[in-house]
Amino acid sequence: MFNFIMFGPPGSGKGTQSIKIAEKYGLVHISTGDIFRSEIRNKTVLGLKVQSIIEKGELVPDELLVDILRSAMHRYPNPDGFVFDGFPRTLRQANDLDQLMQEEGSAMSLVVALEVHDQEIIGRLLKRAELEGRKDDTEDVIRNRLDIYLGQTKPLIEFYIEQDKFAAVDGVGSVDEIFNSICEIIDQKK
Ligand code: ADP
Repeated sequence: MFNFIMFGPPGSGKGTQSIKIAEKYGLVHISTGDIFRSEIRNKTVLGLKVQSIIEKGELVPDELLVDILRSAMHRYPNPDGFVFDGFPRTLRQANDLDQLMQEEGSAMSLVVALEVHDQEIIGRLLKRAELEGRKDDTEDVIRNRLDIYLGQTKPLIEFYIEQDKFAAVDGVGSVDEIFNSICEIIDQKK
């Protein structure tokens, strides 16, 4: 299996690139943000539980993530691998993911971060708010999501550097340019 984490701050383009990578390499794309938004739309028990958390830009509690991930992964028998988008976001989640990979008899292969500076992110997310009307794309909530990224998620870079699985690409440029940079790294590692 080839298991890949698309890493980066909110609004860095993880979703766009993840879809392209999954398509090119025949991997299963798992976006925790998409899973939560679908649960909210369908007003499920989980959706109702996480709705206010997400609208404030906070993180859904770690305990909930591992079961959600496991059932999302088990929907696909014998996959060639996964592209994780929006997960892991905390050290606990990174450890849980290693555990889940072990249960599958596999391991994480590569983590690539999209590097985008704060001003660009805020601009992109405010534009997305106009286009898509996501409730977590208001300026205050965006700043909260960025703070949480810096405090809780960005430190994971060290975790993956230590395992020699980390690379970063410039996340500012055209979708295709960024995609090509990511593919170069994947092709070296595969
Ligand atoms: P973005 O990357 O633009 O911040 P996502 O679509 O990945 O947005 O996630 C939207 C929201 O869903 C997050 O702000 C958070 O509240 C919740 N969420 C998604 N993934 C996780 C996760 N792994 N752990 C905790 N909360 C999560």
